[in-house]
Amino acid sequence: MESDLRVTVWNEGRHEKTNPRVQEIYPAGLHQPIVDHLQSLGMKVRSATLDEPEHGLPPAVLADTDVLIWWGHRAHDEVRDDIVTQVHQRVIQDGMGLIVLHSGHFSKIFKRLMGTSCNLKWREAGERERIWVVEPGHPIAAGLNEYFEIPHEEMYGEHFDIPAPDALVLVSWFQGGEVFRSGCCYHRGKGKIFYFRPGHETYPTYYQPEVLQVIANGVRWAAPSAGPSVRFGHHPAPLESLTPAT
Ligand code: ZN
Repeated sequence: MESDLRVTVWNEGRHEKTNPRVQEIYPAGLHQPIVDHLQSLGMKVRSATLDEPEHGLPPAVLADTDVLIWWGHRAHDEVRDDIVTQVHQRVIQDGMGLIVLHSGHFSKIFKRLMGTSCNLKWREAGERERIWVVEPGHPIAAGLNEYFEIPHEEMYGEHFDIPAPDALVLVSWFQGGEVFRSGCCYHRGKGKIFYFRPGHETYPTYYQPEVLQVIANGVRWAAPSAGPSVRFGHHPAPLESLTPAT
């Protein structure tokens, strides 16, 4: 049941404190329109921010989260390594879904899960972004048209130093001519990870219906499956008799 999905939207929350433009667009924080939209769909949603104790992600919150959404930018290095490890374990071992947004490409948790630099090209010129659906049968593309446009965004361009995605759902074109893999799906351990590009803090991107649709679809896709918990051991007892035939 969708209403059973427990989502935590994590936001660094620093630009909102210092940049009047960001305060104007997101008076309650960049995470708030995402929280509001997912709640309107019946999901159980909470927010968490960097400056809360344990970044708002104590073990009890992680244990109560099916899908974690992550937006960070200028304070990636301030995220505690032990909390990154706990998030990593929740993804790998327990199958918690992770959705990494925009500048979260440089977050500790995304880089650890990818194992690459996650570097890219960027330009902040408020240009148009056209996002094409290149895997129309994928659950994350549900309800979208062939493409949608964001009037003003920061450009991210290839090469994006990530492992080849297990599924590439969205590709962006920018007015300046670059392209970018904007919607990338991964399986890591029991967990599913979705990277979704848009969301520079000085544009109202997270109010746009198509963007919210992709995030909601991503939450549904990344939610844990009901698969078994694997118990590792060196010497499991045989399931059949191993008596050699004579
Ligand atoms: Zn940005």
